[in-house]
Amino acid sequence: MLKGIRFRAYPTKEQKDLINRTLGCCRLIFNEGLALREKAFKQGDKAGYTATSAMLTSLKKQDDFSFLKEVDSIALQQSLRDLDAAYKNFFQHRADKPVFKSKHNNHQSYRTINQGNNIRIEGNRLKLPKLGYVKIKQSMSVGYIHNVTIERTPTDKYFVILNVDFEPDTIISKGNAIGIDVGLKFFYSDSNGDIVANPKHLEKSFKKLAREQRRLSRKKKGSNNRNKQRRKVALVHEKITSQRDDFLQKQSTKLIRENQTICIENLRVANMLKNHKLAKCISSVSWRKFFNMLEYKAKWYGNTIIKVPTMYPSSQTCSICGYKNKLVKDLSVRKWECPVCHTKHDRDYNASINILQKGLQMQSA
Ligand SMILES: [Zn+2]
Repeated sequence: MLKGIRFRAYPTKEQKDLINRTLGCCRLIFNEGLALREKAFKQGDKAGYTATSAMLTSLKKQDDFSFLKEVDSIALQQSLRDLDAAYKNFFQHRADKPVFKSKHNNHQSYRTINQGNNIRIEGNRLKLPKLGYVKIKQSMSVGYIHNVTIERTPTDKYFVILNVDFEPDTIISKGNAIGIDVGLKFFYSDSNGDIVANPKHLEKSFKKLAREQRRLSRKKKGSNNRNKQRRKVALVHEKITSQRDDFLQKQSTKLIRENQTICIENLRVANMLKNHKLAKCISSVSWRKFFNMLEYKAKWYGNTIIKVPTMYPSSQTCSICGYKNKLVKDLSVRKWECPVCHTKHDRDYNASINILQKGLQMQSA
């Protein structure tokens, strides 16, 4: 099994400089590759990885691009593979069309592959191609390293994410099955009648984020104050991400430990992310992360995740008699009584029971 482990890194000034140049080169190659593929795409040709790979080889031979030889060559190839994967996802309707990368993006990272043990940990240092030994804060032991992502945050912190071999401990499952209904009011409601609320400290941080973003929008473009404010916004963002990930890790582990089978909705995240309402957008990112965690943990520990199709009207269907009540479509309806069997329903609890029943039905079909 594989697992991603993130450690803080403390590169020297020279190493930082090289990391930043590598990020720039990977961005350049990604963007050049994207332009090439866009042009081919317009001419009706879906030029793939081989075309962009030939482009990289030819660029490296040109004097104007000699700086490409100074950085990790595997990382450059990797950015083209990422582009290729992005196109595949787009062609298969799993993601939006890839877009050009900017140095102003919050997310700056590059990936490199371990070849012949050229990436390894020695003492408190990680050996990386071209960079040499980079100091890291290692919080746990790791198995064989397959690849490494080097990341720079908007607040100029550096991290390495190691993709490593690992042996999961065996969890003795209690054999339970559960249905999960994620929502905006609560983080989720389950078919046992339990509710997990959105953490209060996260809501507080979101309010702070909105406040700092408003302040940023009032600062003059290009001014020193604007840059300072941008850093403030980035710091709140970082805090939210770490608080949220911590919450999601705990919740997903709890579900996996307590249940053998977990039924969830197959959310179409690509559509949801187009929603510009902040709260909704943040929730949908959390749900996607949460479901990803459930899926990889289920693989580690041998649980089953069943995804119920989004078309299934889990909120509107009476979980007792199966009557479909269209009036419940309105999100403001929190409680309703079934006109046929007169069961009184709580919207989310009823939906989670339906998700469980539908999931189990799909499993036995
Ligand atoms: Zn009913």
